[in-house]
Amino acid sequence: MGSPVYRDSAVVLRTYKLAEADRIVVLMTEHHGKVRAVAKGVRKTLSKFGARLEPMSHVQLLLAHGRTDLDIVSQAESIETLAPLVADLDHLTNGMAMLEAVDQMALEREPAPHLYRMLVGALRTVARRSGPLVVPAFYWKLLAAEGITPLLDECARCGEPGPLVSIDMDHGGALCRNCRSGAPLSPEALELMRMVLGGRLNDALSVPASAATHEVAGHATRAMEHHIERRLRTVAMFERMET
Ligand SMILES: [Zn+2]
Repeated sequence: MGSPVYRDSAVVLRTYKLAEADRIVVLMTEHHGKVRAVAKGVRKTLSKFGARLEPMSHVQLLLAHGRTDLDIVSQAESIETLAPLVADLDHLTNGMAMLEAVDQMALEREPAPHLYRMLVGALRTVARRSGPLVVPAFYWKLLAAEGITPLLDECARCGEPGPLVSIDMDHGGALCRNCRSGAPLSPEALELMRMVLGGRLNDALSVPASAATHEVAGHATRAMEHHIERRLRTVAMFERMET
C-alpha cells in the first residue's frame, strides 16, 4: 500500500451522511481513480476543513488510507469554485449530470487521470455557459475516451457512404437504409454529432435548442446507458468467476 497518507486533487462527485457529524465523500481523484473517504466532523459548524466538501467542489486533499475501503480526509483546500456562484438551475442540473456520468464510469481506485481532467474541463465549461448540447457532448466525449466512438461517416455495417438513417451502438454507429436498426437518426442530428466528435465542439455548444439537439441528447443518453449496463454485466461475470 506504500505511504499511509497521500495527496491528490479531486472533484467531489457526491456525499452522504455517515454519523452525526461525519460524511462520506465520493471523489474523482486525479491519480487514484474513484475514492470513497470519510470526512470526520465536516458537518460541525466549526469544521477543520478549509474547503467545503460538496458535490462539484474542486479540492486539494490530504488523505489517509483507512482500515476498510474508506480512506480518511485529513485536509481539504479549495482549488477553485466550479459550482455556479449564483444558483442557476440549468448550470446546476448540467453539472450534476456530469458528476453522475463520471461516478458511473470511473472504477474505484483505478487511476483514470483523463476522466478527472475531462470532468474539471467540462465543469468549467458548465460554469460559463449552458446550452442543449453541453451534457450530451460530454457523454460522447467520455465514451470516446473509453474507446467507444460511433462511426458517422459511412454505414457501420456495410460501408455505404449514405444516406445514414439510424444509429445503433450495437453495430458501432450510423446505419444506411438497408442495414437500419436501433433509433432513427435525422440528417440534422447526424451533423451535430459529427460536429461534437469531429473537432467542432465549440460550434456545437453554441447551437440553440431544437428537435435535433433533443435527438442528439437522446442518442447520447442511450449510448451511455448501453455502455454502463454492458460494463456492469462484465463486472458481475468476473465476480461470479472469482467465487
Ligand atoms: Zn449499410
